[in-house]
Amino acid sequence: MSVTISCGILTVSDRCFAQEAKDESGPNLKRILSEEAKINSSDIITTIVPDDIIRIQGVLVDWCDRKKLSLILTTGGTGFATRDVTPEATKHLIDKEAPGLVVAMISSSLQVTPMAMLSRPVCGIRKSTLIVNLPGSVKGSQECLRCILPALPHALDLLTSNTSAVATTHSTLASGQHKCPHQHKLATASHDRSREDFHKVALRARKSPYPMLPVEEAMRIIMDHTSVLPSIELPLHDALGHVITDDVHATQPLPPFPASIKDGYAVIASDGTGTRTVLDPVTAGDKPDKVTVVSGTCCRITTGAPLPSGADAVVQVEDTELVKSSEDGTIELSVKMLRAVDIGTDIRPIGCDISVGQRVLESGTILGPSELGLLAAVGVNQTKVNSRPVVAVLSTGNELQEPGELPKPGHVYDSNRVLLLSSLKEYGFVAKDMGIAKDSYEFLKESLTSALSQSDIVVTSGGVSMGEKDLLKPILEELGGEILFGRVFMKPGKPTTFVQVPFGGKTKLVFALPGNPVSCAVTFQLFMVPCLRKMSGWKCPHHNKIAVKLGFDISLDQRPEYQRAVLQWKDNGEIPLVATTGIQQSSRLLSMSNANCLLQLPSRDEKHSKLSVGEMVNALLLKHL
Ligand code: AMP
Ligand code: MG
Repeated sequence: MSVTISCGILTVSDRCFAQEAKDESGPNLKRILSEEAKINSSDIITTIVPDDIIRIQGVLVDWCDRKKLSLILTTGGTGFATRDVTPEATKHLIDKEAPGLVVAMISSSLQVTPMAMLSRPVCGIRKSTLIVNLPGSVKGSQECLRCILPALPHALDLLTSNTSAVATTHSTLASGQHKCPHQHKLATASHDRSREDFHKVALRARKSPYPMLPVEEAMRIIMDHTSVLPSIELPLHDALGHVITDDVHATQPLPPFPASIKDGYAVIASDGTGTRTVLDPVTAGDKPDKVTVVSGTCCRITTGAPLPSGADAVVQVEDTELVKSSEDGTIELSVKMLRAVDIGTDIRPIGCDISVGQRVLESGTILGPSELGLLAAVGVNQTKVNSRPVVAVLSTGNELQEPGELPKPGHVYDSNRVLLLSSLKEYGFVAKDMGIAKDSYEFLKESLTSALSQSDIVVTSGGVSMGEKDLLKPILEELGGEILFGRVFMKPGKPTTFVQVPFGGKTKLVFALPGNPVSCAVTFQLFMVPCLRKMSGWKCPHHNKIAVKLGFDISLDQRPEYQRAVLQWKDNGEIPLVATTGIQQSSRLLSMSNANCLLQLPSRDEKHSKLSVGEMVNALLLKHL
């Protein structure tokens, strides 16, 4: 029989990635898969990453969880060199090991060279994908692949026929193997946690089973799972900050009549300079046919008033002189024009600001005060916009108490909830206060269910680390949620968790943010704000980023860091300087106070361990900068 499969070949090599060496093993493995295993080469994807655990895991997670490939072959990074980490990257991702494949590969290689003893491959299954680590050399990788090739059809048959996974691309692997008689149950959640029991602390996992994703990968997952909310009709007064869903065209010209730009006299231009008899005045709001100007006459006119019939120009009052008035000074009888004007002087012709049919707003525009003014100017009083998400905010932790209460022993005041609620308000989203949930299984489950039922998206803080009371992840999985990621390679914010949960016939999103107040605030800004903006219809939902000059020295961390800082704009047009907000501990909320940007600092490496005053870094602009 045959099984449908799709494959990925991941070359792990610093030198190939940097294009200092040509990747020969990857293409060779692809050739073997297509020529000998008869897999369509269009169903084999390939990529190259450096020997970096995070980069390797990023690709593996993407290929297993999103592309749902049947087979991944890695080549490279399995030896004893310091940078060889492919087995480590693989080990933490797999749900089940496949030691038989390892034994087969090593024993066959040992017959060729004793150096095979130094190979450390890991093979295993993540969800419905088989991952096989092969050596980096063309010869070694090809021998190992050929050694396991006879068993692959049956292995993949077992995997693909016993899961609901749907391969995005299909191919048929030639196989003389028999049909699988057994039902192999694969973990449906991200990780096999069946042996874990969160009621029994001694049985908890001592290492997080969640791979640490690079920030960019986490962001990509968030954006891939975020849908734009449907549109609603809103009166202009309620539409500030919303995104308009349709183009708006003017149905009337603006101005709708020739209007005076100045306070002065409506005249016939060809009359030139000299004295005129003054007719009744025309002021803003009068009808244009109230007066008719004929040669030798003029009429007083105010800014915005319609040009009276007969007139073809306006002479501003500053260019005239009174000749004669009524005795009591209330009526002007004649004035002298000191300056000759051309036809059309100081008149806005019909439609000079906006013509009929002109597009005044494009769909996707964010409605600020000027855009709302523009809509009003063309007579629109309500408009179709994307709705904005309702966000439920829940704090978790037995230690939390409400500010204002007398301090209780072992407690801290809940600062995250008001921080999140008011940040949401500041950005214009609808925030719902779900209070504090105790770290008890039943309480948390009930609070989460209630939060899910009242919102489009839920944000919690606390309860996602490795402590015995960190129950959020298992409870969300029990509610049917899929943990799309459970750790991010960043500082602060490592335990940031993103989940999609089927609820009430819809798919809802949950951001389970870390409890430390700064971690919570930073990850809200970094991950959640773009997600909420996308839901609200923003076309460019990410924070603006600019290059800034450091005003202080920084020691780089092992993880990419998001330091809080204050931008100081210079009036001489120079690149802005940033000042620190002090000690950057993730519990120290003072480091967030007054911060208007997040510095995006790279992780340290062998060559770079610090940044000095005057060096340039990228800063994400927060708030309304
Ligand atoms: P957790 O993420 O639940 O392990 O909490 C990490 C740290 O953040 C602990 O010191 C908690 O006391 C603190 N923390 C958690 N939630 C809050 C909150 N809502 N307000 C202030 N501190 C919190
Ligand atoms: Mg906690």
